[in-house]
Amino acid sequence: MRSYTLIAPAKINLYLEILGDRQDGYHELAMVLQSIDLADRIDLRSNGTDVIRIHCNHPGVPQDKTNLAYRAATLMIDQFPDAFAQYGGVEIEIDKRIPIAAGLAGGSTNAAAVLVGLDLIWNLGLTQSELQEIAAQLGSDVPFCVAGGTAIATGRGEKLSPLPDLDHLYLILAKYRSLEVSTAWAYSTYRKQFGNTYACNTESAEARSVKVNSGCLVNAIAHKDNAKIGECLYNDLEKVVLRAYPQVLQLREAFQRTGVLGTMMSGSGPTVFALTESLPQAQQIQTEVENAIANPDLDFWIAQFSPNGIRVAN
Ligand code: ATP
Repeated sequence: MRSYTLIAPAKINLYLEILGDRQDGYHELAMVLQSIDLADRIDLRSNGTDVIRIHCNHPGVPQDKTNLAYRAATLMIDQFPDAFAQYGGVEIEIDKRIPIAAGLAGGSTNAAAVLVGLDLIWNLGLTQSELQEIAAQLGSDVPFCVAGGTAIATGRGEKLSPLPDLDHLYLILAKYRSLEVSTAWAYSTYRKQFGNTYACNTESAEARSVKVNSGCLVNAIAHKDNAKIGECLYNDLEKVVLRAYPQVLQLREAFQRTGVLGTMMSGSGPTVFALTESLPQAQQIQTEVENAIANPDLDFWIAQFSPNGIRVAN
């Protein structure tokens, strides 16, 4: 039986601008995405049967057909029925280390790992762009998760242009364990409150999305200007989530007071991250914020920016 262990990194949004509505019901977005070395481990093993089975050590992750990793395997079976006939189904074991429903693309990166893993197990020899095309059918963040690194993402998040690596930066992530924010709620609330600022057609949305290429953050990344990167972090969804969840605002303010390079909520939250230039600084900031908030419900992680998407574990 063939098997692979894959490392599936989380992502954060360094920039998230909502440009308008799309005809397919999604939002037109301009984002800058960044992989981090906080990652799940995915074991994939051909089981010689005709079923897909999910095992996960986290009770909050579904182990049925609704798991995004399961949906990724089903999609691969649909696309490559001959390989499925030859090799059969798979056992997918997820060692979950990325917090769930946290705005860190945990489900998306698991799906990306299954695509990459089945390509290997089934000897398909797909290119990265072929894998990303399949990935786009599973969710907006999945194509980025395949390639990872630092990238501008436009459209609904699936059109990617790579940026220079930023693997010298560290971050502290913090999340209230009991707090989950629904991505659907965040976007629909944003539409209700800010729909009047949306681009009125596809052309004007595209014109606005091109602007991110010459914007403050992309310039700062090109020059590896850490202070500027911190200043140029941006997320439209903070406008609705911070108002509805005062604890998240309080957390962001606590990070701000420590003098980090910059702090921001990731995606639709509720995880807040803060950037530093070194590991000892990150550890120091974590201690300061832990002391300032002193809430046992608050979890912290320290991570480093990563140039990697899905990769086979050594
Ligand atoms: P995004 O940043 O892409 O919006 P997220 O990080 O906020 O995603 P996920 O961790 O992907 O959110 O989980 C959202 C929900 O998806 C979970 O509550 C869980 O029920 C479901 N889910 C399905 N498959 C997975 C998976 N493989 N890992 C985690 N959650 C999953």
